[in-house]
Amino acid sequence: MPATFTTNWSLFPPNTREAQFDEKWAFVAKKEKNCDPEDPADDRKGDTWDHVAIDADCATNVAGLYAIGDVVGPPWLAHKASHEGVHCVEHIAGLKPDNLTAPIPGCTYSEPQIASVGLTEAHAKADGREVRVGRFPFRANGKAIASGETEGFVKTVFDAKTGALIGAHMIGAEVTEMIQGFALAMTCEATEAELIATVFPHPTMSEAMHEAVLDAYGRVLHL
Ligand SMILES: Cc1cc2nc3c(=O)[nH]c(=O)nc-3n(C[C@H](O)[C@H](O)[C@H](O)COP(=O)(O)OP(=O)(O)OC[C@H]3O[C@@H](n4cnc5c(N)ncnc54)[C@H](O)[C@@H]3O)c2cc1C
Repeated sequence: MPATFTTNWSLFPPNTREAQFDEKWAFVAKKEKNCDPEDPADDRKGDTWDHVAIDADCATNVAGLYAIGDVVGPPWLAHKASHEGVHCVEHIAGLKPDNLTAPIPGCTYSEPQIASVGLTEAHAKADGREVRVGRFPFRANGKAIASGETEGFVKTVFDAKTGALIGAHMIGAEVTEMIQGFALAMTCEATEAELIATVFPHPTMSEAMHEAVLDAYGRVLHL
């Protein structure tokens, strides 16, 4: 029995509002901003982007129809789409994939590079969380000095009550290669205790990550 999937924006050729599916689909399509700014009845103006609603296993409200990636909402990143795709297919195959709760790092390949994962200090505070924040500049990191890459810093955000790392932000050389260290820590629900106890190799830019953790707890070494 074909399922009818209705969207309030065009997934398929322009002005298409419905698509029919005969069987299970892993739905991979690009979200389009498709509003008419001249149409007073179109409430999808400005930066309002609609997305396909899914449940924890990427299922839409149409039985057998799944959606992943940009079409299901932010962050609009390739690794987030891939992560959801693997989860979705494993679920369809009858496996029991882990929940889709892992934090998604974001990277900007500018100069200097920018990388972040989790909450910003401002977002955490807006959520009503009490935070501990640490910072460490690359100008105090030996590898950065030796490499002439002293621009930038590392910032960590911890939940003050639980000690959980809830956000990390970095600007500087090669930070897009380092952010996964904090992503792993957050996925493992690490607290400041595990991060402080972790040994970071010397000389590396990653030592600034350790120092930013230490700084959040008043234990910074090289400042
Ligand atoms: C310029 C640019 C740079 C980016 N850089 C990065 C980056 O550095 N890192 C990062 O993580 N993300 C980056 N992104 C975002 C990343 O590309 C997307 O988040 C990711 O591709 C989303 O995957 P997806 O499968 O949801 O959509 P897509 O990869 O867009 O796949 C959708 C597919 O559906 C197809 N399709 C669309 N309409 C139809 C149709 N009507 N019928 C049939 N097929 C259709 C498309 O051809 C496409 O193959 C960048 C995006 C852009 C535009």
